[in-house]
Amino acid sequence: MNINSEAHKSAPKIMNTYKNFPMVPRVVFGSGSLSQLGEILMPKRKNSEAPFIFLVDAVFEEEELSSQLPLLFNDQIIFVSSEEEPKTYQVDALVAKIKSDFSEMPSGIIGIGGGTLLDLAKAVAILLTNEGSAADYQGWDLVKKQAIYHVGIPTISGTGAEVSRTTVLLGPEKKLGINSDYTPFDQVLLDPNLTQGVPKEQWFYTGMDCYIHCIESLNGTYLNAFSQSYGEKALDLCKEVYLSDLAPTESRDKLMMASWHGGMSIAYSQVGVAHALSYGLSYLLGVKHGIGNCLVFQHLEEFYPEGVALFKEMMQKHQIELPKGICANLTASDFDIMINVALGLEPLWENAIGKNWKKIITPEKLKSIYQKI
Ligand code: NAD
Ligand code: ZN
Repeated sequence: MNINSEAHKSAPKIMNTYKNFPMVPRVVFGSGSLSQLGEILMPKRKNSEAPFIFLVDAVFEEEELSSQLPLLFNDQIIFVSSEEEPKTYQVDALVAKIKSDFSEMPSGIIGIGGGTLLDLAKAVAILLTNEGSAADYQGWDLVKKQAIYHVGIPTISGTGAEVSRTTVLLGPEKKLGINSDYTPFDQVLLDPNLTQGVPKEQWFYTGMDCYIHCIESLNGTYLNAFSQSYGEKALDLCKEVYLSDLAPTESRDKLMMASWHGGMSIAYSQVGVAHALSYGLSYLLGVKHGIGNCLVFQHLEEFYPEGVALFKEMMQKHQIELPKGICANLTASDFDIMINVALGLEPLWENAIGKNWKKIITPEKLKSIYQKI
């Protein structure tokens, strides 16, 4: 079974193997910046027959945001539910629909939503120019042709999907990212106003994804000055957002930048124990990324004592009650599935524990953590 984290496969360790990774070339930041989208897209319009396709989280179907999108000619909005994490077949179906609805290749794809919609938009942009199914490209550097122009507009902060070089998809055989130089967005628009309607629990879970990225990156053996500089900044911002009493606008601005910096931090290092175990939960039970990380992280004092103590303080301040008994009725073979998924994520363990991680991380140890959840 093959699973990966949102970051790359391994960190630079030996001379001449340092990663040369692409960054988002253009970014706008500011409250109300959505109003600039029309002028940003205009020069990228190929002609009146080549539409922009807006993939928008279905939560906005009846909301003002949908009426603010700068639609022209035959541009199309497709609302997509983020109830479940993105699937390869969903990407294939969207690509087939776009190809059958339009005679010309679109001018671009705009993803508007959380990590789910951002990942879908990246994958659709890639599959419009690359033959076959999204499942064919799950892995590292399998994409051969440049994607079409794609723009990411987050409406919730934390995953770092807006800066990353991957799009995490559940395929028929595996949950694995399309990690490639063609995956990152060509343009990101960061408008903190768009995060106003996020429900409190979801704000906490997705924000904690960022916090956990920082803890895992900063406490990992892959840490280097590049990752550290971004990780420390993101961690400071998370502390301000979740432990002090910022005004709502300042809090939204800072969490959006924390997400960005957290994503940049893991781009050049790796995530760790919480993400490895959370992937197991997600694979077997469909537990979503943000809450899955929280469910695991609360039990990781042994690995991240200070990080977990602060996490519990944040939970208390915001009166977050995590669900209990998630693994209560699982069978021995269910545990084995989750454990195998988690153990398969070797770079995460190597980052978290070091080269000799196999001596410390045993199936029994992982089972004892899962049993607490
Ligand atoms: P999400 O996109 O699944 O959205 C979570 C919930 O918040 C949904 O119900 C959504 O409708 C709602 N929501 C979003 N914005 C809202 C708003 N402004 N108002 C009201 N409701 C709003 O959540 P997420 O935590 O951002 O993303 C999780 C996904 O991201 C997972 O699929 C995970 O695999 C992926 N991920 C990708 C990367 C990457 O680098 N590509 C990194 C981390 C996670
Ligand atoms: Zn994460």
